[in-house]
Amino acid sequence: MSDHQSTPHKTLTSVADLVDAGLAHGDHEVLEKVAEEFRVAITPELRQIIDPGPAPDPIRAQFVPSPEELETHDWETGDPIGDEVHEAVKGVTHRYPDRVLLKPTHTCRVYCRFCFRREKVGDVREQLSDNELGNALDYIRSHQQIWEVILSGGDPLVLADRRLAKLMAELEAIDHVKVIRFHTRLPIADPDRITAGLLSALAVKKAVYVVVHCNHARELTPSVRAAIARLVDGGIPVLSQTVLLKGVNDTAADLRDLMRALVENRVKPYYLHHPDLARGTGHFRVSIRRGLELVRALRGFVSGLCQPTYVLDIPGGFGKVPLTPQSLRETGTGAYDVQDFRGETHAYLDPLDIRERPASISGATSETPET
Ligand SMILES: *Cc1c(COP(=O)(O)O)cnc(C)c1O
Ligand code: SF4
Repeated sequence: MSDHQSTPHKTLTSVADLVDAGLAHGDHEVLEKVAEEFRVAITPELRQIIDPGPAPDPIRAQFVPSPEELETHDWETGDPIGDEVHEAVKGVTHRYPDRVLLKPTHTCRVYCRFCFRREKVGDVREQLSDNELGNALDYIRSHQQIWEVILSGGDPLVLADRRLAKLMAELEAIDHVKVIRFHTRLPIADPDRITAGLLSALAVKKAVYVVVHCNHARELTPSVRAAIARLVDGGIPVLSQTVLLKGVNDTAADLRDLMRALVENRVKPYYLHHPDLARGTGHFRVSIRRGLELVRALRGFVSGLCQPTYVLDIPGGFGKVPLTPQSLRETGTGAYDVQDFRGETHAYLDPLDIRERPASISGATSETPET
């Protein structure tokens, strides 16, 4: 590191730290206000790949606080995806019948400036006590329909190995829970934390999946790639989720490079999230129209393995819904116009749909093009 003032082995957590690291952009008093509202943490691993500027940088934009975070809009809320509406007991969000989110901690190794849970993360009062975690597990135990437990937060992998191992053993013992999924940013924020000890804490007989939050190909440094390889080699399938963010990954080339880099590292892209309406995140917002254009630009031109599902989390707690560019139009019963990835239209006749609706066969065939 060229800057003698910087301390490469320390996580930056204050405006003073940012000033030392040459990363305080804008009025320091305003930045202090931002940091009071929304916690700051930038690990050495991420510090290394941040371009100090002033040119825009997709890594800096994600982690270094900006005065724009104090600009709020009336469509933004403190609970953009309605987690609180579906809180069954403290730390458990039960929105869908067969799966729950279990949030044992609200701390993270890094704090993303666009976080959809930014009002909650970093608050140590939100950490579950042993007693509360016990109640959360009781809830899961007493609800037979819970097939999958998704550990989220915060970042569940910041828990100590011993605590994780104990939690895994408790989940392993619940018969109806078949799948344990982690949502984490730890392999990117602190790849050295993916140790043999952590892997052995996660090793149970049930299916364990890790979904890593990654927004830009540059986050996949050599040590991050190695950390992901340790997970995959350890028998854990790894998927990814990405948040679509202005100034970070809102071009077709950025998304292509990211999705390819993930697949090259044996990570299957799972979700591309439309940004949630979290407070003070307007400068990251992308329109759905633009999001659909980007999804269309990837489809067909880039391997199918590299295609995440673009999803919107419906405000109010109604769940996620896939957003897909219109590629199919019904022109008659069982008759469709389909659009290929180059935008050309082809007629498709669905033989089953026509056979199953004999009354409308004649009408349908007369409307459909001869082939
Ligand atoms: C996103 C989410 C899930 C997981 O949804 P999948 O579509 O299975 O990935 C589960 N519960 C809640 C409350 C969620 O927000
Ligand atoms: S790691 Fe996840 S939960 Fe933590 S600040 Fe970033 S987006 Fe929020």
